Amino acid sequence: MITLTEKRNDLELEIRDLEEKALYRSMPPIGGMPGRTIQIDGNTLINFSGNNYLGLASHPQLIRAMGLYAERYGVGATASRLIAGNTEVHRELENYIAKWKHTPAALLFGSGYQANIGVLTSLAGPDDLIVSDELNHASIIDGCRLSKAKTAVYPHFDLDRLSELLAPSDHRRKIVVTETVFSMDGDYAPITEMKSICNNHGALLVLDEAHAGGVLGPQGRGWAAHLGVEADITMGTLGKAMGVSGAYVAAGKKIIELIINKARSLIYTTASSPALIGTALEALKLVASEEGEARRVTLMNNVNLFNKLLLNIGIKIHEPSHIVPIHIGGSAKAMAVSARCRELGVFAHGIRYPTVPEGSARIRFTLMSEHTGEDIEKGASALSEALKNY
Ligand code: PMP
Repeated sequence: MITLTEKRNDLELEIRDLEEKALYRSMPPIGGMPGRTIQIDGNTLINFSGNNYLGLASHPQLIRAMGLYAERYGVGATASRLIAGNTEVHRELENYIAKWKHTPAALLFGSGYQANIGVLTSLAGPDDLIVSDELNHASIIDGCRLSKAKTAVYPHFDLDRLSELLAPSDHRRKIVVTETVFSMDGDYAPITEMKSICNNHGALLVLDEAHAGGVLGPQGRGWAAHLGVEADITMGTLGKAMGVSGAYVAAGKKIIELIINKARSLIYTTASSPALIGTALEALKLVASEEGEARRVTLMNNVNLFNKLLLNIGIKIHEPSHIVPIHIGGSAKAMAVSARCRELGVFAHGIRYPTVPEGSARIRFTLMSEHTGEDIEKGASALSEALKNY
């Protein structure tokens, strides 16, 4: 029999093992308002690690909106959407999203993680095939696993392999799933070609627009809207460029109906607070407005400035993006470069296995419209300085 002390040792060993491999994780204590700077442990640093791309998380209009919605609808939804939590604000936001995305229907989820799991487990089961990009987000990977569908993984953006994997026809349903702007690489999926491959093979195309929504396309409608591609199902988040929290799925009415009936990550969880949902509605209106457009333009100017400065220090970025990975390789080295940046007043987190494949650790800079030219110069020069010693 294992004693309690031995069990504790076991936990300790597992934690030490993570430390030795430079894979130990912790949660830095954050203070203050979200924005271009971040307070960690009482130090104010320039923030290159958030997903608050348009700076909306601290927008005064949205802060006010949250108070107003709370006064009108309360702070909690009190139950699952399917029992007693389906407030008029939830329905209003879904209608707004469906119009904004030009889809017949939309459905809210508590988070993007829950949305991806909900979509994939609702649409796919043991008789189905999911074909997934090797660099897809953990929530997509977990959705594939939980669905019990046969999952085939193709090398990043390898369209020939994608076609090959879709060839077998002995599946009830075939689904192709990809991020549009990849969260850890900042590159853009070739979804025009993917859509026509899906059409050729009778497969559904599921897009995760977590990092493209709000940032790209007309009215911030995402990468697919930018290219004019119509996916069968789109997932987007409300906690990144929209600055709030939660996620949505936009699709046809039958697909949404099926997801409502099958997604355990929707059915068995309390609906998001109506105050939060109301704030997300106001955030989306801002995103779609002229102010949203102006913020996107500033963000893209910042992207171009950062790329130019990186080029000056010998780092070439292939595709301009608000997500900029600086490839380092080893986890320990990536974390050391990130720690040095922090000493220099710049917060750009190291990204390691299992978030990215082993041996491909990186520092990930994310840009926002709130960054000043000076912030971006400081980011690039801290990186240059930090890389010198490693
Ligand atoms: N998909 C992608 C590509 C993501 O980067 C994330 C968040 N890191 C999610 C889904 C999950 O979204 P959320 O944070 O709303 O759970």
